[in-house]
Amino acid sequence: MTGATITSLPAQNLPATAERMIQFTVRDDGICVLTFDRHGSSANVFDLRTLDELAGQLDFIERQTKLKGVIFISAKRSIFIAGLDLNLLRENTSPDEVRALIERGQAVMNRVAALTIPTVAAIHGAAVGGGCEISLACDYRIASPDRATKIGLPETKIGLLPAWGGSTRLPRLIGLPKALDIILGGKTVPAKLALKLGMVDELSPVECLIAAAARKISEGKPSRPDHWLTNNALAASVIRSRVRKQVLRKTRGNYPAVLKALDVVTRGSSRSIGASLALEHDGMFELAQTDACRNLIRVFFMQERAKKRTLPVEVSQARARPVARTAVIGAGVMGAGIAQWISTRQLPVILRDINTEQVAKGMARVAKLYHDGVKHHIFTPHEARDGLDRVSPAPMEVPLRQVDIIIEAAVENLELKKKIFQRLDELVSENTILATNTSALPISEMAAGTRHPERVVGLHFFNPVHRMQFVEVIAARQTAPEILQRALRFVQQIGKLPVVVKDSPGFLVNRILMPYLIEAGNLFETGARIEDLDEVMLDFGMPMGPMRLLDEVGLDVSLHVAETLAAKFSDRMKIPDCLRKMTVAGLLGRKSWRGFYLHEKSKGAKPNPQSSTYVQSGKARALSRQELQERMVFLMVNEAARCLEEQIVTDPADVDFAMIMGTGFAPFRGGPLRHADTVGAARLVGAMNHLVASGTAHFAPCDLLAEMAANGKKFYPKVEMT
Ligand code: NAD
Repeated sequence: MTGATITSLPAQNLPATAERMIQFTVRDDGICVLTFDRHGSSANVFDLRTLDELAGQLDFIERQTKLKGVIFISAKRSIFIAGLDLNLLRENTSPDEVRALIERGQAVMNRVAALTIPTVAAIHGAAVGGGCEISLACDYRIASPDRATKIGLPETKIGLLPAWGGSTRLPRLIGLPKALDIILGGKTVPAKLALKLGMVDELSPVECLIAAAARKISEGKPSRPDHWLTNNALAASVIRSRVRKQVLRKTRGNYPAVLKALDVVTRGSSRSIGASLALEHDGMFELAQTDACRNLIRVFFMQERAKKRTLPVEVSQARARPVARTAVIGAGVMGAGIAQWISTRQLPVILRDINTEQVAKGMARVAKLYHDGVKHHIFTPHEARDGLDRVSPAPMEVPLRQVDIIIEAAVENLELKKKIFQRLDELVSENTILATNTSALPISEMAAGTRHPERVVGLHFFNPVHRMQFVEVIAARQTAPEILQRALRFVQQIGKLPVVVKDSPGFLVNRILMPYLIEAGNLFETGARIEDLDEVMLDFGMPMGPMRLLDEVGLDVSLHVAETLAAKFSDRMKIPDCLRKMTVAGLLGRKSWRGFYLHEKSKGAKPNPQSSTYVQSGKARALSRQELQERMVFLMVNEAARCLEEQIVTDPADVDFAMIMGTGFAPFRGGPLRHADTVGAARLVGAMNHLVASGTAHFAPCDLLAEMAANGKKFYPKVEMT
């Protein structure tokens, strides 16, 4: 905008310039620039105040006769507009407020679309949800090719649909099939792909966005193809019935938003804009009242909370600075994964293993992760090279006094881990945090052998590290609060989502998951079919069935964790013989190509006929699919309640968040404890007691559940978001 004379908006009823969400200027060439710059925040969102401000500015623009065009742009570093402020859809939002919100948003977008002068969205950063919808209401979209620029409509991921014109305008812009792919998939796409799909008209470096947008304005209003071949009633109905089948196969009917969006987009595509917007309105209104939507929005807020979570502990100034140097001990699957992740966050990391060969294998794993990242456009080749350079291989002992945090990820063996910790204790400075990535071993015992047990903590990453955002931060008996706080901050520093838990076998996630996997193994051993066990849990909403999960984790690894838990909870956890026998026979799951399934590269997985050797009886064959599902779910819910009872964590939301993030527990159900509230403690306890009476004692409900059932209590008594 160099050389342009800036005229300020002479608007009444708007906040003082410094407090505005949108800065308004008119250049001397008559182009009006609306710069979204949310006061006091690094992100722009649409809240009521922003909508009002925009409406006020449109009042002014609509009255002008000399303006040549309007450019919408953002002043933020990596966000154009991140969509609706989800605080407006909290659990206590009334239906009338939801309705008003949809109508206000639609009204503003419609006014942008109705402007008689050309309009351009100049997009740099995330333009998602409402941010994408305002761009769709413009005549043109120009985007910066930056990595930060992402455009799309993720509403179905939180149980909603785009209802500020997105479900109406995107199919008109790019055609029905491509629009459905974006909307039903809740996708956001990088700028280059957005260009290819027709969602943006051209790319321009961020410094030239305004100039490029001004050029577009000089071209006048565009004329665009109408996609009549796909956007007509007949084609839309054919597409709808085909896609409906695909959606039902994929979601098993658990995500109503996807089906509703399919209906709205396909029916709306051949109607008038007004009629299509009415469909959007009604669809969104209906979805906002569903449990699935409420639970998915809760998950969003839980993620936000994890990003900012802090403990009420002061950290001395000398130790409060962010971690600058790191080391990982053990360059296996987890160690290499953790080292690579840390290096992607710009931190140097020493990767140590017992000899050159093991270290070389670890470095090869890190290199492969970067290689795959480049293939999937997550890194440029240059970034990947830099990242790999930050990992220093260490086949022998190296000085560790300058290192802020060391994460041990050697094999799961308590004696070995104790020795490693004793040695590390001698090598590091007094400020170094010593963390272990153990899956289930007692961290307090590892700490006990060191001179400074107060600096030992657990950091349980999940596999694969680069995909799993969640980390358990485990407080051993001796861990100093300050160390816990620093470990928590480190996890946040590297962009993962933590929950703080108490040291106890299996911590939180494996503790709740394992009774479920053990039950699946026992049901298999007593005659239930592998496919049925997996299918019923896929129907429940798990991302993978339990038998398949055992194969993926490895039967040997699962057995090891199960043994650690069964040693402590022998009254209710009986490890199925098949786990031991199949491990001995080398049927380890995917890593040995055989387990409960045969894993063939070309053909995928199919049940392994050899596994039938390990079936001991036919008792479970008579159980219905519902009974199979209930048995496995009951045990997860019961163990989740026990974790709360034993104060492994103190907040039900931590249990639910950990299970959703750590295992993919049906997010639309809101986690095992929220699910318990939905079913009702009394019904759950009644059904579990019934099973106990029929001779399966391990279903005995824990005291907390029994007490809740007796007194009609809930885990979440208030309709308040966490
Ligand atoms: P892995 O067998 O792939 O790797 C272990 C590595 O540790 C090997 O490279 C081995 O050479 C090395 N090692 C052994 N003794 C060592 C020593 N004294 N000093 C340095 N390195 C040594 O195992 P993994 O799957 O990466 O698991 C590592 C840890 O992470 C275990 O405690 C495991 O329970 C835990 N964990 C594993 C998973 C998973 O899914 N694999 C998930 C979470 C946590």
